[in-house]
Amino acid sequence: MEDTILVVNCGSSSLKVALFDINLRQLTSALAERIGKSDAFARITGHSRDIPLQSGAGHRDALQALVSAFRELSLLTSPPVAIGHRVVHGGETFREAALIDDSVRQAIEDCAGLAPLHNPVNLTGIDATTELFPDVPQVAVFDTAFHQTLPRHAYLYALPYRFYRDWGVRRYGFHGTSHNFMATETARLLGKAPGETSIISAHLGNGCSITAIRDGISVDTSMGLTPLEGLVMGTRSGDIDPGLFEFLETKDISAESLHRILNNESGLLGLSEKTNDMRTLSELADQGHEPSIVAIEVFCFRLARYISAMMASLRELDALVFTGGIGENSAMVRAKTLSHLHLTGFAIAPSLNRQHGNKTDGRINREDSRFKVMVIPTNEERVIAREALETSGTVSHS
Ligand code: AMP
Repeated sequence: MEDTILVVNCGSSSLKVALFDINLRQLTSALAERIGKSDAFARITGHSRDIPLQSGAGHRDALQALVSAFRELSLLTSPPVAIGHRVVHGGETFREAALIDDSVRQAIEDCAGLAPLHNPVNLTGIDATTELFPDVPQVAVFDTAFHQTLPRHAYLYALPYRFYRDWGVRRYGFHGTSHNFMATETARLLGKAPGETSIISAHLGNGCSITAIRDGISVDTSMGLTPLEGLVMGTRSGDIDPGLFEFLETKDISAESLHRILNNESGLLGLSEKTNDMRTLSELADQGHEPSIVAIEVFCFRLARYISAMMASLRELDALVFTGGIGENSAMVRAKTLSHLHLTGFAIAPSLNRQHGNKTDGRINREDSRFKVMVIPTNEERVIAREALETSGTVSHS
């Protein structure tokens, strides 16, 4: 019987589950989508057959179905030794991962006002695995925790101070597990101690954020109170002028509609009027589709501005690191972005960029570049598995 760690990531309408061995090698992963809808389905990576889910199946049903399928396929022959849950918002309560007990569960519930679409489903996942595996230690790994080291000047908005004091309105930052992974992975590849490594980490997926990490800790990041602030994303606008709210009222667009527009109908999708998918956009741009060209230009320019902005928080820079679906795979986005930054001295080697980084350390910069530039695949599930092992007190053999 193999010791395993189960990783559970409940999104608002999806569920990702992964299984690792105790040396943090990934054994399998699975995905359920369209949760709560009539056409909900689940699939285990590498298995062509869908796992049937009842119409309207919720996160709990999907988790039970996936765990049963893991058992049937002998991927899970005994209870896991630890379970790690991605939890989106830990507010100011959680600076690191936490072993889940009643008080931690309550604190996650208390943070739900800050992430109403996510924390409640994260709790559903926690309750479902508690039912399935009552004796297994469970650990909450927070998207926000890595950014709790932000200094006050980086996390405060210039709003009436009582908004922060009374309601916790501040910048929290997200994608913390990914940025944390980038910090330790870059240090490993450079042969440095994580606590002595300073990087700018650009996580560019459907959601995008960038973080300045000084001596291993997060000191500035682009997402704020919610994951809407900062970079241009697949369907999210990133930064906008708050004056837009009043202007759009004169156009009869309500706050509720605007919330939906900014989150679901903006970003690459809004600008291109076609798609939020960077791969498709690149193909359209190559064919001369002007709105796709514009969407990519805005995306890259905003990113370049933020790379410069992150430098305000660093004393030195060991590497600029790209990750996420776009960051890892789009040589075009990396090249276009860095073409805006002549003054800062990033020089990339086109051949290394095209192959998404050299084999040994993911480097794409020229030898004469002032700063290293690297491409490093992220693995948030693996970080969650590692944190679950460490926080639950289960010893890793790696
Ligand atoms: P993620 O959320 O990390 O899965 O990233 C999703 C984004 O990565 C989407 O915009 C995809 O189009 C983009 N992506 C994935 N593969 C590629 C690729 N080969 N070239 C460009 N973009 C890609």
